[in-house]
Amino acid sequence: MAMEAEAAPLGEAIGAFRSESPPWARALPCRLDVAPATASRPEVVLAVNGIDPRTGVDCIGSTAAALTTQTVLTAYPGDEIDLVLSVGTAGGWSRLGADIGDVYMAWDRFVSHDRRIDIPGFDAFARGDLPAADLRHHAAALGCRTGIVTTGDSLDESPDDQERIRASGAEVKEMEAAAVAWVAHLHGVPVGAVKAITDLVDSPVSTSEQFTANLAAAAQSLRETTLALLDRLGADS
Ligand code: SAH
Repeated sequence: MAMEAEAAPLGEAIGAFRSESPPWARALPCRLDVAPATASRPEVVLAVNGIDPRTGVDCIGSTAAALTTQTVLTAYPGDEIDLVLSVGTAGGWSRLGADIGDVYMAWDRFVSHDRRIDIPGFDAFARGDLPAADLRHHAAALGCRTGIVTTGDSLDESPDDQERIRASGAEVKEMEAAAVAWVAHLHGVPVGAVKAITDLVDSPVSTSEQFTANLAAAAQSLRETTLALLDRLGADS
C-alpha cells in the first residue's frame, strides 16, 4: 500500500504488528507489518511505502512501490508468498460506469500510461502489459468490478496520458500497481490489485479535491473488501 491513511484501517483490522526491517532495507522508508494466520485467514505481510524523510509525506508512486515490493519478496522469498496484492485508492471514469466508492480488482493486466518510448521493443517494455492474477470469482462474490489497472507517476491526466489510457482500455488509474506487478513478475509471484475509487477522472471537480473528500471512506472499503478477500483466499488454500 502507498499511503498510511489507506493502510491504517486494514492494519488495525488484521492485528498487524511492526516487524523490524532487515538490515539491508533500513535505509528505505518502507514498513513491513505482519499479521499471523488465523483460522480463516492466511498470514499477511502488510507493506506500506512509508514516509519520505526529506518531505515528510507518503512515498506514493512507482519508485517506492517497486522498492517496497522488492523488500517484501526478498525478506519473504517467493515460495513463502502465494500472492502479492497492490491495495489502494484510484481514479475511475464515469464514462465507463464507475462511481466513487466502487472497488475494483485488476483484470486482466497492469499497464503504464506515462512511459513513452517510441522504439521497437522498448515500447512494449514501457507499457508493461503484465498479467493480473485471476481473482474474478472473488470479485464477483464480493460485488467488485474488474478492469485493467493503469499506472503513472502523476495524479493528473495529461492529454498524452488520456490518449494512451483510452487505447489500453484501462478502467482504473493509480500510481503504483504496474511497478508492484513488474517486481512480482520478476520473482515469479502472482499479483493482483484491490483499488477503491476516490475520484472520477472525467468529473469537473478537481481530482485532488475529490480524493481528499473520499479518502477516509475509501480506506474503510479497502479494509472491508481486503478482509473479505483474505478470508476467501484462506478458504481456498
Ligand atoms: N496525498 C495527496 C494525493 C495523493 S493521491 C493529497 O492528499 O492530495 C495519489 C494516491 O492515490 C496514489 O497512491 C495513487 O495510487 C492514488 N490515486 C487515487 N486517485 C488517483 C488518480 N486519479 N490518479 C492517480 N493516482 C490516484
